[in-house]
Amino acid sequence: MSAPLFAIEPHPHPVEASVREGMIADPGFGRTFTDHMAMVRYVEGKGWHDARILPRGPLSLDPAAAVLHYAQEIFEGLKAYRLDDGAMALFRADANARRFNASARRMAMPELPEELFLESCRALVRADAQWFPPVEGGSIYLRPFMFASEVFLGVKPSAEYLYLVIAAASGNYFKSGAPAVRLLVSEEDTRAAPGGTGAAKCGGNYAASLRAQREAIARGFDQVVFLDAAERRFVEELGGMNLFFVFEDGSIQTPPLDGTILPGITRESLITLAREEGLTVREERYAIDQWRADAQSGRLTESFACGTAAVVTPVGSVTGRDWSFAIGSGGPGQATQRLKQRLVDIQRGRAADAHGWVQRIGG
Ligand SMILES: *Cc1c(COP(=O)(O)O)cnc(C)c1O
Repeated sequence: MSAPLFAIEPHPHPVEASVREGMIADPGFGRTFTDHMAMVRYVEGKGWHDARILPRGPLSLDPAAAVLHYAQEIFEGLKAYRLDDGAMALFRADANARRFNASARRMAMPELPEELFLESCRALVRADAQWFPPVEGGSIYLRPFMFASEVFLGVKPSAEYLYLVIAAASGNYFKSGAPAVRLLVSEEDTRAAPGGTGAAKCGGNYAASLRAQREAIARGFDQVVFLDAAERRFVEELGGMNLFFVFEDGSIQTPPLDGTILPGITRESLITLAREEGLTVREERYAIDQWRADAQSGRLTESFACGTAAVVTPVGSVTGRDWSFAIGSGGPGQATQRLKQRLVDIQRGRAADAHGWVQRIGG
């Protein structure tokens, strides 16, 4: 099947080369935006149409646009890399396309043909290829998203949507050896309840997590770890990253995808790689009290969080209402480091890609 065509409207005044080079020398994360964006419109009865790459800029929205009132919005996050041979590639973008549609179904939004999702990402990266940071570990972070744009205050699924992709030059999240994060257990707020939207990548889940995250930062922690909403007992995930536990016997555990956890593509990739190494991986619930007991007894040796942005981040300590425990010695443990390296080597085209995860963009 031939790729859907995106009309290209080049930016009349792209960022000047010398300015851009300064920006991408130290891009940080999520703030150094490229010159263009992708956009596709949807209207009920007409379907998806008007696919374009256009100059990045503000949107004009009617104040009654449904998303501003009822939060019908979903998003994705993925990275484009330059491989060591210079080619541009996406990592498992087909999995992002499928997850985007799973999120769309949960939020009563129209599905986007997978090939349209993929081509929107490719066409944008081609248009902004000069934005790849020249630094080790540099990438272009892509943020596809879709929201309800119908002008109507009645409560029903919108009949009109906008799909966009914006892109940001992105540095190596952690330059040398990821520092371990300090986690605060959210005692008050939960992120997702059974039957809710925890498995959908929607802005609303993030909005619900911000109060706990703000409190954690104010108290000197890095991230919040959320517990299950029903019993407040089982470890679920961080606001935007999945969690893994590594045991003394070499086995690995991660919470199961029971509908309240976001099915991370990094999570799934690491499970696959760990099983290929012959490690036992359990997708089973893990109680917060057990985590604490296992860390203190030495049965648990490492814990890490994972997601597209930082890939793998070691957990250094976990704090609850009146207790706290440390894990490891402050840096990444051996298993954490090894799994991360295997994944990064595949992403960069340095290790054999047995699963076809690295998809070259071409052009
Ligand atoms: C996006 C996300 C993740 C990580 O998913 P990846 O596909 O690995 O980037 C984990 N948890 C939540 C809540 C997320 O939104």
